[in-house]
Amino acid sequence: MEIVILGAGQAAASMAAKLRTLGHDGGITIVGEETAPPYQRPPLSKAYLLGTMELDRLTLRGDDWWAENGITLRLGERATAIDRANKTVTTDKGLIRYDNLALTLGATPRRLPAMIGGELPGTHVVRNLADVDLLVDELERGRKLVVIGGGYIGLEAAAVARKIGLEVTLVEAAPRILGRVASEETANMIRALHQAHGVEIIEGVGLIRITGTDHAEGVELADGRLLVADFVICGIGVYPETALAAHAGLRIDNGIATDAQGRTSDPAIWAAGDCASFTTAAGQLRLESVGNAIDMAELVATNILGQSQGETSDYLPKPWFWSDQYDAKLQIAGLNSGYDRTVTRKGEHDHAGSVWYFRNNHLIAVDALNDGRAYMVGKRLIDAGRSPSPEQVETETDLKALMK
Ligand code: NAP
Repeated sequence: MEIVILGAGQAAASMAAKLRTLGHDGGITIVGEETAPPYQRPPLSKAYLLGTMELDRLTLRGDDWWAENGITLRLGERATAIDRANKTVTTDKGLIRYDNLALTLGATPRRLPAMIGGELPGTHVVRNLADVDLLVDELERGRKLVVIGGGYIGLEAAAVARKIGLEVTLVEAAPRILGRVASEETANMIRALHQAHGVEIIEGVGLIRITGTDHAEGVELADGRLLVADFVICGIGVYPETALAAHAGLRIDNGIATDAQGRTSDPAIWAAGDCASFTTAAGQLRLESVGNAIDMAELVATNILGQSQGETSDYLPKPWFWSDQYDAKLQIAGLNSGYDRTVTRKGEHDHAGSVWYFRNNHLIAVDALNDGRAYMVGKRLIDAGRSPSPEQVETETDLKALMK
């Protein structure tokens, strides 16, 4: 059986490795547009951007591993069409036949429109190696950085730039940072952390345009302020890569839609990672995280091989995330969507604490800043589907007692 994987990121690497671990002895081909072999993305906005992590530690496998495992890497090659009737993929370099096709195409950063300076040199996004290599030059030369967007990309990039000694202002158009992913209490802890490190955070103010003629020079805000900048980083979200799948007539629903097992609307085509939305009891869900890329890709590998024996299983995600900013670590277990109550516990040090999210008095997520114990206890409870009451979380002095 020939298995072709389009997209050469974390999900592709995990899927290919799992297929071999499970004993698949047919062909595996990975097609990726970037020229670098599959690499980790999380360090791009952290240690790699800071310059404390080398490229060889970023790549997921040594150069020889792919050939040793009979995995063909077709890098610097762009898939342009899927012919479902003939089970072939057309690329800019040829035609590839498949029995099963997996789409691990990831997501693409949103950019500001060109008419407001979104494409001016000196306006950056942080998604792949090439983006970061461009940014490293600017970080070395620039003194003033404006970051647009107060999600994890913007906050992590702001922390790196500040660590290097740049003056940093972060602008979030929404009323507060981390509005999409975290509670007000968590946002308050992260804002305080950045302010303690000297980052100016402006919230609830829209952007008019990035100024400059042949390079970004500043940012004009809706309240009339003009922020001077040597360069600008935009961390304003991503959209899932669905164009190829849509063109092939596959169902799209906030991503390439799959059933609970990772199968798209064509049973010979699967999807995993940032680009895929999968069916859950609560509806279609898409997760943007490396943990999801690994777990869903491995499940899809298992299901591709198990389908002929009727041995397939549903994807039951156990979401977790983390973010490093300065010397602080934010760890997140679970998904907080639909929470109706939070309980905040103070940590033992400055910039430490945890926020526990409940829905109908049931624990659904925990954010822990510099509090590994709260994360560990919260994650175990959530993964086991168990919940202490909000009052217990509020008053219990020994966190581990919550697990009894
Ligand atoms: P994100 O989490 O969607 O955050 C983007 C932020 O920018 C949102 O708060 C958004 O506000 C705001 N924004 C949008 N347009 C804006 C504008 N014109 N001016 C000012 N603010 C604006 O996305 P991201 O931070 O770019 O990250 C991209 C992806 O990488 C996400 O999937 C993220 O989870 C992932 N990532 C994860 C980690 C981690 O887990 N540690 C680290 C880095 C990146 P609205 O919500 O109101 O639009």
